[in-house]
Amino acid sequence: MQVTIIGGGVIGLCSAYYLNKEGYQVTVIDRNNITGGCSFGNMGYISPSHFIPLASPGIIAQGVKWMMSSSSPFYIKPRLNLDLISWGMTFWRKSTAKNVEQNAPHLNNLLQLSRHLMNDFKNELPDSFDMTEKGCWLLYKSEKTGDHEKHLTEQARSFGLKSIICDAKEVQAKEPDVEVNVSGGVLYLDDCHLNPEKFMLALYNYLQNAGVKFWLNTEVTGFEKNNGKITTIITNKVNITCDELVIANGSWLGNISKMLGIKILMQPGKGYSIVYNDLEKNLKYPSILVDDRTAVTPINKWLRIGGTMEFSGHSDTILPKRVMAIYNAFKKYYPGMNLPEPDLTEAWFGYRPVSPDGMPYIGRHFRYSNLSYAGGHAMLGVSAAAGTGQLIKEIIGGEKATIDLTAFNPARFS
Ligand SMILES: Cc1cc2nc3c(=O)[nH]c(=O)nc-3n(C[C@H](O)[C@H](O)[C@H](O)COP(=O)(O)OP(=O)(O)OC[C@H]3O[C@@H](n4cnc5c(N)ncnc54)[C@H](O)[C@@H]3O)c2cc1C
Repeated sequence: MQVTIIGGGVIGLCSAYYLNKEGYQVTVIDRNNITGGCSFGNMGYISPSHFIPLASPGIIAQGVKWMMSSSSPFYIKPRLNLDLISWGMTFWRKSTAKNVEQNAPHLNNLLQLSRHLMNDFKNELPDSFDMTEKGCWLLYKSEKTGDHEKHLTEQARSFGLKSIICDAKEVQAKEPDVEVNVSGGVLYLDDCHLNPEKFMLALYNYLQNAGVKFWLNTEVTGFEKNNGKITTIITNKVNITCDELVIANGSWLGNISKMLGIKILMQPGKGYSIVYNDLEKNLKYPSILVDDRTAVTPINKWLRIGGTMEFSGHSDTILPKRVMAIYNAFKKYYPGMNLPEPDLTEAWFGYRPVSPDGMPYIGRHFRYSNLSYAGGHAMLGVSAAAGTGQLIKEIIGGEKATIDLTAFNPARFS
């Protein structure tokens, strides 16, 4: 049987990986060339520690506070857009303790499944992607943030995740070469990290050799349907007949769904990153600078810093103040690194696919008998890609899914 996947980001490629291994003829369509989506310049964390959905208590109040500052890590461009309003109302409704209580166990299942499956990729992809398994810091400056993070370790422990709570001295002892200015940190030992562009290229090379067909620089513009089934995918280059369709086109999930008469709530959450190469001294551990919502990924002499969540639609404008805020946050936590100011023309940006309850869309959609969704992973696309890929293989094969899929139902807001 033939399966077509729209979207060659990390979710599309990991789905292709498991479907191809199962013996399906897989075609991937992407309007770019694999390097253009959110999956390329992100921080490369595989984070089982991130089991709290984005829609959670306190996020709205914090967001409103941050909106007042042009260099804060969060921004919504105010505009009269019906999709944004509908998404925002749902996000507001879902930012509750109940949402966290209901959905955190499901997100945890997906993240832990994915963390475990990353070993498949580590062992089977011929090209290295620098997967490094030493954990990830959540570092804080304020006592209030520290208390919150320490409290979260209890829930993490109940999910079987290992962590070490450290004071400032203990954090510094683990980074002996670089001054660290924090009040403390939690090191999550099950987390790991990789170089995302190397991972994407390694996957792409593997899949090409394994017989997956790619239509790159090819944009899906419509569909033909018959009898409750999608029969043809129309692109700007060819028309492709389809047995099974997986929609995995990231933050554009809502746009393409409209072509099928389906409502999927989705907003692009833009983030930036900057890279430093050939550093003489570098950090030993990746870290999230929690008070400033900034992330740091070191691999050998390479260092990436990233962050911000900007809801301004798919707008390719780079806001220099927000890129500088990432750099300034880094300097506050690691004053001894003396990194030069970033060249803003070199800053990367990507659109996180953000659903309004912080849960991905994974599963069949009732509107068509051969349609499945894989997307909406927000800041967890790399972390959850392997599990999503395996689940898509199980869904299409009619197998019992490894984890309960109810919370990921793509029709939950349709
Ligand atoms: C600064 C930053 C840091 C991040 N760090 C991490 C991290 O450390 N760990 C983590 O787990 N996640 C992280 N993320 C999130 C992660 O990058 C995303 O969740 C993930 O890349 C989403 O993957 P995707 O495959 O769903 O979408 P994408 O990578 O965006 O891929 C979607 C693809 O669909 C294609 N497409 C769209 N429309 C069409 C169409 N009509 N026809 C054909 N093709 C189409 C696009 O060209 C694109 O290639 C980060 C994000 C940002 C911005």
